[in-house]
Amino acid sequence: MKYFDELTMIEFDDYMKKTTPPVVVVPIGAVEEHGAHLPLGTDTFQPLYVIEKLAERMDILVAPPVYYGLCNSTRNFPGTISIRFETLYNLVLDILKELVRHGAKRIVVLSGHAGRPHMAALKEAAQDVVRAEPELKLMVLSDYDIVYELCGQEFEPDDGHAGDIETSRIMAIRPELVKGSGERSKPEFPPFRILAHPEKYFPSGIMGDPSAANAQKGIKLNDYVVDQLERLLSDF
Ligand SMILES: [Zn+2]
Repeated sequence: MKYFDELTMIEFDDYMKKTTPPVVVVPIGAVEEHGAHLPLGTDTFQPLYVIEKLAERMDILVAPPVYYGLCNSTRNFPGTISIRFETLYNLVLDILKELVRHGAKRIVVLSGHAGRPHMAALKEAAQDVVRAEPELKLMVLSDYDIVYELCGQEFEPDDGHAGDIETSRIMAIRPELVKGSGERSKPEFPPFRILAHPEKYFPSGIMGDPSAANAQKGIKLNDYVVDQLERLLSDF
């Protein structure tokens, strides 16, 4: 595994000119409130961690992360820095085009933040790149596309933002940044409404039950994400 920005231009060039150039992974995060108990970088720490673990198992090239994302429902909480759809779309579009220009044949965009408009911006950018480069293999997913498969099985069906799963994962990754246990909150939003102040419906900034979280669960969850990513990339 190589971190893209630790290579010289010569090393980078050699790497990309291999008969089979490595899969390039682009980590995407967010700067977003995660309750009173988790850090603002929660959605960045998770993909960076699983990518590091994945890189111990397979040869990948890790691009410098995008630390910002689009956060609608949490935007008015302290610390959330949300970028616009067009900004995220254009940023990711440019990064993907540049990677292709430098010889990338297989690219994975992995986001720790899983909000719908955020993921839509990533997917639209990827779609436009693939239309121009039909031979390119390109994947866009969130680690939450993987872990939410476990909702309704080992976790409550509606576990979500800063809930049991996410809190457990951060307890395993950055325990020193977890402040207390967080309180259970299962907000109900009025159907179909577009809200200026969605935070009124979940003043704690939590959608789930972080009080059920622990580091052991987090270790299992993170391993599960790495296993599933390895499986996805093994025949990519
Ligand atoms: Zn999150």
